[in-house]
Amino acid sequence: MPLEARATRFAPSPTGPLHLGHAYAALIAQERAGAGRVLLRIEDIDQSRCRPEFETQIYDDLRWLGFDWVGPVMRQSDRLPAYRAALAGLAAVGVIYPCRCTRADIRASLSAPQEGAPLGPDGVTYPGTCRARSMSEASPQDAIRLNMSAALARVGRLSFVEHGPEHPGRHVIDNDWLRDVAGDVVLARRDMGTSYHLSVVVDDAAQAITEVTRGSDLFDATSVHVLLQALLQLPQPSYYHHALIRDDDGKRLAKRDDARALALCRAHGQTPDDIRLSLGLAPDA
Ligand code: GLU
Repeated sequence: MPLEARATRFAPSPTGPLHLGHAYAALIAQERAGAGRVLLRIEDIDQSRCRPEFETQIYDDLRWLGFDWVGPVMRQSDRLPAYRAALAGLAAVGVIYPCRCTRADIRASLSAPQEGAPLGPDGVTYPGTCRARSMSEASPQDAIRLNMSAALARVGRLSFVEHGPEHPGRHVIDNDWLRDVAGDVVLARRDMGTSYHLSVVVDDAAQAITEVTRGSDLFDATSVHVLLQALLQLPQPSYYHHALIRDDDGKRLAKRDDARALALCRAHGQTPDDIRLSLGLAPDA
């Protein structure tokens, strides 16, 4: 691919102030774009947790940091029709179903031997209680799940290319893991019309992203995304999963770690190059 055709993205959720971990993710996206384009997407599907003031602060922090995104910002809250269309496509091939189980229902139906079982990208594996329900009986109070076995039966052997430092190379998707551990992941949360997995796949395609850069905590989710790309006949990007920035105790930075908020670093007189240096990145050229 010509270098200038590369496109990466930074996709923060406006649920708190950006911290050093976000700065790292944004700067890695910019670095990986090279002579190509880096885009910005605001992942605000969970309106109960997102705040407009955090979104405003994201733009401000990113400009200060020297993150130069190209083109209009994509906001997931504007994209519900695209998610609905993707769900309709999946319904047409019979790989999704409505689910009325609450978290408590799911916990109750999991028997004790499940304790200690491996967790999928969304936590415990859904036991399949609603799998026989049909989309014709779906109501807005239902979540929509992927019927993983039915989905896997429609695709061949899948793989993706990883460029990140931890596991570089081509990765063949482990279908047994998808079926037995990831299980019937949620594609639309109750009253939300979409989920992280569906939105990210639909939007990376809509923004013509050629390389998805993100934290290594999302490495497992990539198998789900590659499967969705195949089912929806969307182009497959390559991936670059980067290390997570941790605090001095080795804990992953969370948004409530306000001491690491970029705005505070800035208020304390740190420069964007100080931030780069503390993240192990070269100063801005
Ligand atoms: N919105 C996600 C986050 O803030 C990033 C998702 C992704 O890059 O796929 O962690």
